[in-house]
Amino acid sequence: MRNLQVNGERLWASLMELAQIGATPKGGVCRLAASDLDGEARRLFIRWCEEAGCSVSIDRIGNIFARRAGRNPDLAPVMTGSHLDTQPTGGRFDGAYGVMAGLEIVRTLNDLGYETETPIEIVAWTNEEGSRFSPAMVGSGAFTGVFALETALATQDNNAPGITLGAELARIGFAGAEPVGGREVAAYFEAHIEQGPILETAGKPVGVVTGAQGQRWYEVTVTGQEAHAGPTPMPRRRDALVGAARMIDAVNRIGHAHAPYACATVGFVQVSPNSRNTIPGRVFFTIDFRHPEDAVLTQMDRELRAACSEAAAANGLETAVEEFWYFPPTPFDPALVSAVRDAAAAQGHPHQDIISGAGHDAVYMARVAPTAMVFVPCVGGISHNEIEDAKPEDLTAGCNVLLNALVEAALEPSP
Ligand SMILES: [Zn+2]
Repeated sequence: MRNLQVNGERLWASLMELAQIGATPKGGVCRLAASDLDGEARRLFIRWCEEAGCSVSIDRIGNIFARRAGRNPDLAPVMTGSHLDTQPTGGRFDGAYGVMAGLEIVRTLNDLGYETETPIEIVAWTNEEGSRFSPAMVGSGAFTGVFALETALATQDNNAPGITLGAELARIGFAGAEPVGGREVAAYFEAHIEQGPILETAGKPVGVVTGAQGQRWYEVTVTGQEAHAGPTPMPRRRDALVGAARMIDAVNRIGHAHAPYACATVGFVQVSPNSRNTIPGRVFFTIDFRHPEDAVLTQMDRELRAACSEAAAANGLETAVEEFWYFPPTPFDPALVSAVRDAAAAQGHPHQDIISGAGHDAVYMARVAPTAMVFVPCVGGISHNEIEDAKPEDLTAGCNVLLNALVEAALEPSP
């Protein structure tokens, strides 16, 4: 393993300059996908890439690819990047770090006069956050064939129905000409802040991401009977909210029962008619289950269905538990994961294996190319928040690991 070093101060300066676009008073960033500010950030990124000698292309869903030539133009590129869009109250590092780390790697290779065998491409994926336009990870999803292009372009603004992602990309000048996907990528790397507390707690600047958790999302409808809160005796009630409350408690217990890796969340509840003197007749809520092992997710699914049936029967209710989304656990490529681990060891950085708890563009890329990720800690494990923060030395460490792992892949392409 080589031991190349990026310029950490330059990386930090680029991140801070980028963070000015959409900067919020509390020190965060609001740069929603396909907004004017997203367009401004994209143009700054492209200018920096062109200054670094890259040729830039944009595909029809607005994904930006900045290519540094390799010795052999016939080889598929090694790609790295992330996203430039943020949550409405987002931070300076989520997504931006992965894109700026890619740029810093190209700048470093230029400084060193270092040639790679394969081309290297820095990518900025469109609409990773899924905040303004849902679902999330649309640019990488379209690139990897998870979403049909036309469907992705027709996605509507959650707060302004009728405004589509496609129209907004055209308006900000990023409805590109290139076809979406359908081309080979030799390897994909993504650097990202952890967005959780594990690395910070362990005092390790580098996380070797071995894969992403599986997810099962549900929509549950509990049906009872609306009735007057005064004249209806307790034994005669079919209170949908009481049943839902028992189910929600069961979701939490199932999460704890499969510690330490399981996550179980109810984050959205609608009570009908939501009136203080009417017994609730209907409750709708969502469940988000996550675990790195499919077998455990299946077991959690069984326990959930049993708990919901039991709570419904005990309260004279009907319940429908619909699976809304299933995302299988995604193991990353063992050879690339090893390259990340070796790079961390060669750099002398304390590191540990870690599973990604969040979705990332890398999770979709893993379907079409060997993929790995590098995590760095964020302060307090906090992300999707304006106070999101990361230490410059950790960001530099992660970028150095990314650089050396990526160069391995770009120098010795698999046959
Ligand atoms: Zn992100």
